[in-house]
Amino acid sequence: MPQTTIFDELESQVRSYCRNWPVVLATAAGSVVTDENGTEYLDFFAGAGVMNYGHNHPDLTEPLIDYLRSGAIVHSLDMHTAAKREFLESFREYVLTPRDLDYRVMFPGPTGTNSVESALKLARKVTGRQHILSFTNAFHGMTLGSLSVTGNAMKRQGAGVPLTNTSTMPYDQYLSGVADDFQWLERVLADSGSGVDLPAAIIVETVQGEGGLNAARPEWLRALQDLCRRYDILLIVDDVQAGVGRTGTYFSFEESGIVPDIVCLSKALSGYGLPMALTLIRPDLDQWEPGEHNGTFRGHNPAFVTGAAALKRFWADDTFQNEVQARAAELREGLEKIASGYPDAVVKGRGLLAGIEFPDKAAATRIAAESFRRGLLVETSGPDSEVLKAMPPLTITSQELQRGLGIIADAAAEVLGDQTVA
Ligand SMILES: *Cc1c(COP(=O)(O)O)cnc(C)c1O
Repeated sequence: MPQTTIFDELESQVRSYCRNWPVVLATAAGSVVTDENGTEYLDFFAGAGVMNYGHNHPDLTEPLIDYLRSGAIVHSLDMHTAAKREFLESFREYVLTPRDLDYRVMFPGPTGTNSVESALKLARKVTGRQHILSFTNAFHGMTLGSLSVTGNAMKRQGAGVPLTNTSTMPYDQYLSGVADDFQWLERVLADSGSGVDLPAAIIVETVQGEGGLNAARPEWLRALQDLCRRYDILLIVDDVQAGVGRTGTYFSFEESGIVPDIVCLSKALSGYGLPMALTLIRPDLDQWEPGEHNGTFRGHNPAFVTGAAALKRFWADDTFQNEVQARAAELREGLEKIASGYPDAVVKGRGLLAGIEFPDKAAATRIAAESFRRGLLVETSGPDSEVLKAMPPLTITSQELQRGLGIIADAAAEVLGDQTVA
């Protein structure tokens, strides 16, 4: 048994992941995490989408250690530093320019929810409107503004106050095609008697990482953008989880061709698990007063160092992106094969953010637990944790991916039994 007494005695009840994986983690390399007893786990979790380049990538560790050893400044609020300059230059060179994107970069604070809060604030300020629209099963973070656009009832309840000035709309396929896309929204926006205030912005995830791996179709995203443009509503894409290569391109919206007005990025941005977030803003919307959004940790120099190194290492050409797309196809194929063994099991998601929804809502949680016993970290997604969610590092090898899929297949067989229809 691992030594966990101090966690049980001293740490708050709010802790969660450690309850499913009650080990004490020690080291990590690439797609493998090792606990303090030396037991190895293959990682299909990747720190909830933070470790896109794998754990402790040597090409990122080296510049980080060099930076720290050199006596370079670590904390600098939002003052100019050489590390921030290099990050911004790299971000322009490897991300914005090749995609013909014109955004101002804001550092809103170190977490995803900081970026979402800044996006909502700015949209309200610029438009002078209060209302924000979000989607069913959305997840945007745990602070009040982000919770107000998040779907999950348990998480919303935790706010303890009314979550106001927002409304929820059906996400793509929520009504299973019984109504035309955006039929309700088009009607109420066009009808001055509808009682729905013209919103400042609509916030959307292209793949709902927490909300059940629902993936919006490119044509649905394009229709959403058209609607926003027609009614002068700002379009915010929350790419905190699906961005930074997770779906096979740097931004998750590239496939659809849409160009959001505001983009939120965090999780994998520093490439190393160091906290960092940014908000991309269409230049004419950058109407902040100096200091109007503030925070002590808006520019963590070690994160700039690893973030810039990651951009140079992985995004200077298409090699990495092509590898990620190849792994994504392999993951999809493997999941389809597993799902085909169980009636009504369906594969969901996009890129290396994919999984299986089982008709028995308890199945995914049990398969994840059995996978853990067999040496695989894999979590669940969805309002009832009904989707088994595979989110390995983007740098995972084909062999490791197949090994993880094999563990899931065995765990599913163990939990669900053989359901092959004769
Ligand atoms: C994780 C996540 C957030 C919140 O990020 P934190 O760093 O946990 O505050 C927001 N949006 C999406 C889509 C996320 O996956």
